[in-house]
Amino acid sequence: MKDQGSEHVSEMNLFFLTGPGDLPAALSSGEGLPDGFILGRCGSGSECGHMLRELRKGDETALLPVFLKDFSSDREQEAADGPARTRDEMEKLALKIGNRLRDVDEQALRKSLDLRLLAFLYSREGKKLRPVLDPFSRELYSYPLADYLSGGLMDSSRWLSELLEKGYLEEETLTDRIRACPKCDGAHLNYVDVCPFCRSMDIRRVPFVHCFTCGRVGPQEAFVREGSMQCPFCGARLRHIGSDYDRPMDNYLCTSCSQTFAEPDVSCRCFLCGTWSPVDGLSVRSFREYSLSDKGIIAVRSGNTDDLYSVFDALNYTKPEPFRYILDWQLQLSERPPAEPFSLMVISFPNAEKVRETVGRKKVTEIMESVAKRLRENIRKTDISTRTAENDLLLLLPKTGEKGCTVLASKVRALEKETRQPDGLVLEISVKTMVFPRDRVEGEDAVLLMERLKG
Ligand SMILES: [Zn+2]
Ligand SMILES: [Zn+2]
Ligand SMILES: [Zn+2]
Repeated sequence: MKDQGSEHVSEMNLFFLTGPGDLPAALSSGEGLPDGFILGRCGSGSECGHMLRELRKGDETALLPVFLKDFSSDREQEAADGPARTRDEMEKLALKIGNRLRDVDEQALRKSLDLRLLAFLYSREGKKLRPVLDPFSRELYSYPLADYLSGGLMDSSRWLSELLEKGYLEEETLTDRIRACPKCDGAHLNYVDVCPFCRSMDIRRVPFVHCFTCGRVGPQEAFVREGSMQCPFCGARLRHIGSDYDRPMDNYLCTSCSQTFAEPDVSCRCFLCGTWSPVDGLSVRSFREYSLSDKGIIAVRSGNTDDLYSVFDALNYTKPEPFRYILDWQLQLSERPPAEPFSLMVISFPNAEKVRETVGRKKVTEIMESVAKRLRENIRKTDISTRTAENDLLLLLPKTGEKGCTVLASKVRALEKETRQPDGLVLEISVKTMVFPRDRVEGEDAVLLMERLKG
């Protein structure tokens, strides 16, 4: 089905699904999996949703591009790859996604839902996990993409916070902050004014009178006797406002216990489970967008969320972004007299993957751990480290000039010998150093400097 006049990037197989019945055929056609799907002309919106769900939770189809031809809900749009456009545009996008997914180990994706979610973000450049509002749902907001990918098996909010804590995701725009029932997490709450004495909600706001003779205060209706005002406490006649009595601010009267009070309490009743909670006893939940972090990219590319190099995160690990910030600051300091020297060290392990293939994952982790342990003995509390997307270890050594840097570099290089295995295999350790202000290039900031280090 060619669109007239459009140049095709390639002949991609985008499978057109019109109902759940088409799905088995699409997955078992002899030509292997399609490059993507177009969902359209479904009997009803819910059928489209159902098909999208099936595709996203399937081991083979989870990450394939899906375009929606007909009207769809916000939830579906978030979990799909957008509306069906021209064939050409869809093919271009599908090709892009397919190319990115080629970096990812398919076996690893089958085994780990974490990786699957991270790989989804990785394969769609700039894609963010977005919370979507559903006013009729218990928690009001949900993360449809995460829900769909896990087939509803995981509590998405908790899942995403775990990935955030591990550093695979980054926080983006805050969408909303809501209060929820501490018992059932429901966000459908009724805020009710209640009597602070008996908790009844049957309270009224009534005008009050303050008798100057006895000083007491009461609801106005108690002061009215046969058309004139008389104090029910001391019997004084109240003729003139200002000299016999006045009206304090309105007060509340509880119909249930007859107590009067100036301010009611506010209490919350959950519409879903009926639990009453004080306002400050509600749980507060933030819903925000998330994007893939540098560490998330590493995880996707290495096909492992407990990656080989994570042992180095115990070396005063700083996330790449604050690391760049500190590096920038050091660069600026190094320009001001008296110059404050500092050094940067890049440690990489060129044959780590090869060693892993030879000795196995368990053994290579042990070797890496022993190197990390020895490194830890040699760096100071003030040195910080981060990792690049290529799994190089970057060490920033403040107040360290050429001499200190050279000493540390040779100690690190010497660690290579200690990794020698009985069969002679060695984990290669490569160390590059830069000392500032000596190696300063004018106008170079942290980002440019890190690019230069790679080169
Ligand atoms: Zn009361
Ligand atoms: Zn009185
Ligand atoms: Zn509740």
